[in-house]
Amino acid sequence: MADLVVAGAGMAGLVAAARARELGAEPLVLEKGDRAGGSMLLSSGFVWRHRSLGEFHEDCPGGDLELQRLVLDGLDEALDWLESLGAPVLERETGNPRTVGRRFDTRGLTDALVRAAADVRLREPFRDAHVLATGGFAARLARERGLLLRANRWSDGDGLAYGLARGADLSSGMDEFYGRNLPGEVAEGEYVGASQLYGAHALVLDDEGRPFFEGEPWWSETDLVQATARQPGGAAWYVVDGRALRERVRYGTVEELVERARALGGEVRPAETLPFAVPEHPKLAEPPFLAVRVRAAVTHTIGGLRVDEGGRVLRPDGEPVGGLYAAGADAGGIFTGGYGSGLAAALVLGRVAAETAVAELGDAHA
Ligand SMILES: Cc1cc2nc3c(=O)[nH]c(=O)nc-3n(C[C@H](O)[C@H](O)[C@H](O)COP(=O)(O)OP(=O)(O)OC[C@H]3O[C@@H](n4cnc5c(N)ncnc54)[C@H](O)[C@@H]3O)c2cc1C
Repeated sequence: MADLVVAGAGMAGLVAAARARELGAEPLVLEKGDRAGGSMLLSSGFVWRHRSLGEFHEDCPGGDLELQRLVLDGLDEALDWLESLGAPVLERETGNPRTVGRRFDTRGLTDALVRAAADVRLREPFRDAHVLATGGFAARLARERGLLLRANRWSDGDGLAYGLARGADLSSGMDEFYGRNLPGEVAEGEYVGASQLYGAHALVLDDEGRPFFEGEPWWSETDLVQATARQPGGAAWYVVDGRALRERVRYGTVEELVERARALGGEVRPAETLPFAVPEHPKLAEPPFLAVRVRAAVTHTIGGLRVDEGGRVLRPDGEPVGGLYAAGADAGGIFTGGYGSGLAAALVLGRVAAETAVAELGDAHA
């Protein structure tokens, strides 16, 4: 009989169940969707960390320092553990000098974790759970703010609502999200390739032709995406010139990404045909000038339930809500003010939450 109920069969939930089973428990994973893997399955599969705690905290200044330390210190051992379960590694570099980590094949990763978790029931939303791992509230946030969703469609905030009903506190960062600008609504399989990740090379304009983003976007461009989300309709224009089109960015050249947008039915047009005059700008020096319509899309929420370094869900007075743990995007406040690896946080907190839950619930039963 199951002695530990885990809500959600994405990264954090499957990791928690696999770890709990290793520790001798009999976890049951309840999954609302019709498949396991959550957003992990749709992701690029890079599980990474900053090189130092100082750099992590500098990039996410509003995040909880102790949780950041936990993720940073725990990641390398957790990555070895994932590999020991049979999760296939595609790359051992992130391609970003600021970070280290590994890239997993997300299908193989999901399969390995499901095997290790063993008892995973699909189409069964949880009613009561010990470990909350429902992936935050990206779907609800996108719906409420009229933004696109770039994540699994089931993460609607169910874990958060359950935690709050049990007396939990909220973390920082409740109004922030990590996301990308997309050329429009695209199929799940296009979430990575369709991302228009070249805002640094573009003049970014609102619907009146006014630049609305001061300075250069941050390397992850999540600040630019959040600024786009605040525009009417959560939309903007990226205007690029001939020189920008040749620039190489994360997923190809800018020209390839613009062509990807066009192929997916996005709006790409000569800048001269926009309904406003494009302001002169040093970024627009060499013709042709192309305008690409982009819309902000939510990948995951940053705020969630407040947890401690054991994955225990906390009350406003700082005391644990007895017998309740959270991991992944349900556990908030790690990346506030910036951006980090959601997969890394889900992996480390998922393991820790399982370890704490098995120890504490075992004691309670003894
Ligand atoms: C396109 C894309 C690319 C990404 N690339 C990266 C990357 O390269 N590196 C990185 O670190 N992060 C990346 N991410 C983010 C990463 O996928 C998430 O941070 C991570 O999956 C969060 O883990 P989680 O367990 O909290 O949520 P998920 O993995 O989404 O799992 C949550 C699960 O809970 C289920 N659920 C929801 N409600 C209920 C309920 N009521 N009852 C039961 N189950 C429920 C959901 O269906 C889902 O299966 C990417 C995401 C996307 C979408």
